[in-house]
Amino acid sequence: MAAKNDTILVVGGGLGGAAAALALARKGHRVRVLEEAAEFGVIGYGIQLGPNVFSMFDKLGVSEAVLAESIVPDAILMIDATDAGLIARIPTGASFRQRFKRPYIVIHRVDLHRILLDACKALPNVDLVPLAGVVSYEDIGDRVRVTTQDGRAFDGAALIGADGLRSSVRTQMLSEGEPRMIGYVAHRTIVPMAELRADVHRHEVVLWSGDGFHIVHYPLRGGALFNIVAVFRTSTYAEKGDTEAYRAELNHTYRDSHPSMRALIAMMDLGRRWPISDRDPIRRWSRGHVTLLGDAAHPTLQSLAQGACMAIEDAVCLAEMVDRSGGDFSAAFRAYEDARYLRTARVQYESRYLWDNMYHLGGLEREVMRRSWEDRTEQDMFQCLGWLYDGMALPEKRGAAA
Ligand SMILES: Cc1cc2nc3c(=O)[nH]c(=O)nc-3n(C[C@H](O)[C@H](O)[C@H](O)COP(=O)(O)OP(=O)(O)OC[C@H]3O[C@@H](n4cnc5c(N)ncnc54)[C@H](O)[C@@H]3O)c2cc1C
Repeated sequence: MAAKNDTILVVGGGLGGAAAALALARKGHRVRVLEEAAEFGVIGYGIQLGPNVFSMFDKLGVSEAVLAESIVPDAILMIDATDAGLIARIPTGASFRQRFKRPYIVIHRVDLHRILLDACKALPNVDLVPLAGVVSYEDIGDRVRVTTQDGRAFDGAALIGADGLRSSVRTQMLSEGEPRMIGYVAHRTIVPMAELRADVHRHEVVLWSGDGFHIVHYPLRGGALFNIVAVFRTSTYAEKGDTEAYRAELNHTYRDSHPSMRALIAMMDLGRRWPISDRDPIRRWSRGHVTLLGDAAHPTLQSLAQGACMAIEDAVCLAEMVDRSGGDFSAAFRAYEDARYLRTARVQYESRYLWDNMYHLGGLEREVMRRSWEDRTEQDMFQCLGWLYDGMALPEKRGAAA
């Protein structure tokens, strides 16, 4: 049994790792976050967050700060890439608020990260260590030791691998292959709203859906910025190209799409490309005093825009289970997995389903899909999303009154 002042190691200071550190520290635990980058939380584009994440933010004590940096869009729209016809509309205004109690927001990832990191820095029991890329760990009974790229060793009572899609902790724990590449890539750009020349909705989250490609866009930072994500299928998904090759590929892929989409594509900064990957869901992602969190545990396609939300839910759930276990980390990690695996697996499976059967259809399949969505009412939409947006219920405390 470990005492609260014994350090818990977190590998990775992304949104999941930062949330885990904050959640554990708020419960009085001492936490050390080892991040391979030179600086925490500097890279980022826009991110959408569902209402389910707000009860987590309440527990982390950051809801107000997050809201102050967010935009609540008017609606989420799905639009056909050829004729700009509306396929589906989820209103995110008053009726959404009434149904789900909390808002749907978009925020700059850097702003969200800063809020979590500032809250960590304000606590005496969080130690943020940059330039600490972890290469391996050793589970030595009641303790865990990690080794970094530069040969340093850090000891702790337990280890949380929050090191993302290509987690080194997961690689060692589960001895499996690389994540599943699905043949799609993403490019992301933020442009000043004042320079936006495309005739597009500026107050909504918009998803243009095409045959093997899509674009998502929405405003950020009080409407001063505009976030664009272009995703498409390509045989070069595993290759590294240069900007010119990427430009030619995008121009070809989006050649028959709506003029507004092509105007957005022309604005894309093509300096970096993200191959899209996920993994099959699993039930168990802990061994002894070592567990995983966020993308390291259950990486998902971004169709539901919930990967970061799931990482933050994990963080709060994990801290609660650790706190309840009185220092028995194996029991805490087992309880955390039990509480999380079905919900996170559902996000992974439903994201795959939407990716293949809604976002990227062509031809007749597309026409059928469009027709089938036409009759859906606002209530239908809300009902479909209830399991997700109503949020995560923490397991009852043993012995608690019903
Ligand atoms: C195009 C795109 C759009 C998305 N949009 C949304 C959205 O709108 N809403 C949403 O909720 N989710 C979205 N996601 C998913 C979301 O980005 C991820 O699910 C989320 O960032 C996972 O957080 P994480 O902390 O688990 O991992 P990461 O954010 O990947 O953080 C991992 C951290 O670990 C560090 N690290 C890695 N290896 C090591 C190591 N060996 N040692 C030490 N540190 C290490 C990394 O530097 C990084 O800081 C999107 C994803 C993509 C690709």
